[in-house]
Amino acid sequence: MATEKNYGNPELENKLRDRYFYTTDSNPEFLADVKKISRTIAHMCYQCGTCTGSCPSAPRSSYRIRLFMRRGVLGLEQEALNDPDLWLCTTCYSCTDRCPRDIAPTDVIMAMRNLAFKYDIVPRNFLKTVQLIYTTGHGVPNNDVNRAAREKLGLTADPPTTHSYPEFMPGIQKIMDHYKMKENADRILAEEGQ
Ligand code: SF4
Ligand code: SF4
Repeated sequence: MATEKNYGNPELENKLRDRYFYTTDSNPEFLADVKKISRTIAHMCYQCGTCTGSCPSAPRSSYRIRLFMRRGVLGLEQEALNDPDLWLCTTCYSCTDRCPRDIAPTDVIMAMRNLAFKYDIVPRNFLKTVQLIYTTGHGVPNNDVNRAAREKLGLTADPPTTHSYPEFMPGIQKIMDHYKMKENADRILAEEGQ
């Protein structure tokens, strides 16, 4: 299993372009792991493409949820976990609403992201988001421009979230500490001098 973090790696890019299936590349445990984490029947995918047709990310990027479903079924772990497109799902659940086989493709993607994190394969902006949530409770914290805009609209400067109730931050931090999210984000970013 590669733990490649450099998405510009030409060898990996060639591999991701390769549309042939080699049994030697297949990890039969991968589908089992994905199903166990996602708790969905990923093996039932028959590649109808309804999920990709429903996906708001598909017309705007190279991300294709159907491709990841296929990689799961074929056990193509490296191709799935190392593909930066894995992180382009917005978790809107449109595909899950529409899959004719009652599969939850969204949860398949989330499972694959969990597995990728085990190998430290995470986009840096996601790690920085983890750090922000840990310190503010928000992936995108409020700022002075937004505060001024809110006040102009007659709202309070800060929304009724952890910005207004900082006493809930220790609870959020406790959950994140349990999963070692901040610790791992700090470690990976420090290893890369960021
Ligand atoms: S909609 Fe469901 S069955 Fe069709 S390709 Fe997507 S995951 Fe597979
Ligand atoms: S949940 Fe993800 S994969 Fe499914 S439709 Fe939304 S963006 Fe696309």
